[in-house]
Amino acid sequence: MGRRKKSSKKTSDFFHKACENESPGKSNSDETKVVEQKGKNHLILESTIDVYARLKLPLVQSTHHRTLGDKENDDEDILELDFWPRFVFASNLCLVCMEGSQVTCEFCSMVSYCSDEHKKQDWPKHRNLCKVLTEVCVSGGGLSLLPELTPDEYRVYRLKLIEIVECSLGRPLELWEKEIILYSRVCRSCRLFSKMLRSCSTCEIELHCDNHDGRHEEWCREFQVFRRVLLMQYENGYVDPEIPDTLQKNPLRLPDNFDSLMARLYDNSTYYRSMDCYTYCSLSHISTIPLTALYSMQISCQNWETVDTFVIHVIGAEFQFECIHLHVWEKFFLHLIPNLKRLRLMFVGPELRLPTVPLNLLAAVKICTACKSFDRHVNVSFHPGKFYHDFCRSKQFVKPNLVCLFNPGLYRQTGFEGRDTWPETIREFCKTGVPVCITSYTKHEIPREMTRIKSIADAKTILEPRRNPYASIKPDRNFVSDDTAPLIYKNYYLAIVRGKS
Ligand SMILES: [Zn+2]
Ligand SMILES: [Zn+2]
Ligand SMILES: [Zn+2]
Ligand SMILES: [Zn+2]
Ligand SMILES: [Zn+2]
Repeated sequence: MGRRKKSSKKTSDFFHKACENESPGKSNSDETKVVEQKGKNHLILESTIDVYARLKLPLVQSTHHRTLGDKENDDEDILELDFWPRFVFASNLCLVCMEGSQVTCEFCSMVSYCSDEHKKQDWPKHRNLCKVLTEVCVSGGGLSLLPELTPDEYRVYRLKLIEIVECSLGRPLELWEKEIILYSRVCRSCRLFSKMLRSCSTCEIELHCDNHDGRHEEWCREFQVFRRVLLMQYENGYVDPEIPDTLQKNPLRLPDNFDSLMARLYDNSTYYRSMDCYTYCSLSHISTIPLTALYSMQISCQNWETVDTFVIHVIGAEFQFECIHLHVWEKFFLHLIPNLKRLRLMFVGPELRLPTVPLNLLAAVKICTACKSFDRHVNVSFHPGKFYHDFCRSKQFVKPNLVCLFNPGLYRQTGFEGRDTWPETIREFCKTGVPVCITSYTKHEIPREMTRIKSIADAKTILEPRRNPYASIKPDRNFVSDDTAPLIYKNYYLAIVRGKS
């Protein structure tokens, strides 16, 4: 029941605006680099285009079309989960059309609009919430205390405000409504709440008061991506990027750079060159799981080029993130390692919830004709509602070659349903004696993950924490540690350990 598309403005409007304002953080991409290919004596020319260079491009048109050759695949039951992304609130984007805001609501000053017309149009919907927000946050002084709070107090305080607003309103807030309070219209430096805030002239997202300037070079480009993604997602729903389909003759060792890998796999095609910022972010978001796993495998498994069966355990999996784009594993795993015949993925986690559709449909991974003819498979199994240590003692257990924990937050001891169950899980995955890849949203979290593991089991570091070249580049706002970084990315940092079994 969130807000849906009702805009009459077109993407091209934004495109024009964006073209008028040349970004100061000029992209260093779209340059031609000469890269030496490992193990070969020739140089390849590679033209990479990063996400910033794609900011102004309109939505790329898919060149997917069904040919007669696809006919056999039509007989297969392939599940397509079709839903629309929820509305996302951003304090300086219009509540109706997601364009940059010019006016704020004159009562609560907590929401804003591109024009008086959209403000008027939204009033019947906004009225009830506005009344409560005004009472609690503005005239009630709820937002006036913010500058004095420590980062932790500020987080707790916002959660409290949400509770109070829900109580006055007599209903739970939708996620986007909570965001009005979580990411409210305050100065990003001092948290002053005022009607007179100004926005950064480039990204038009971050706000600042008269005492603080709008300079935030470090984050501005990323906020531009954030804004562009929000608008394009709002107007187009989810997109389904075309995954590069290259059956490698020789095992492909991943470079340390997502853009270079894509330039190479797409072979500089028109689709690649015209891929917009949102589609490119979506591509990285759905490929970060298999590519991070493959990258970890290449670092930690000596026989990765020749192995014919490979078993991966994904612990603490979340259906919406790790399990929804399983087809990508074929393109980004099987197709890059020609000797690999069987890839087995086992998703385990107490919080793994599957949609109510037949399991065989969920686990079906579409395989290309070439893979079929060589009897290659991606086998998937789900173990929902199960702790990893229980799974390890069950009949379904198959010894893994690699264990993955994506953004697990092992250091948090709040646990699942009030019980910290990580120690048992950590002990169990260390006992396997195989490489374990762990990722985190921020640079600050990953050392804490390592400390937690080593406080429980005897494990050796195979890869010291480092920036993951295959992290998602689709930004999300940070709440948990917003004092260190306003935006976060899935799988941003990576480390690999191995338990001494
Ligand atoms: Zn508008
Ligand atoms: Zn209002
Ligand atoms: Zn300020
Ligand atoms: Zn900015
Ligand atoms: Zn294939």
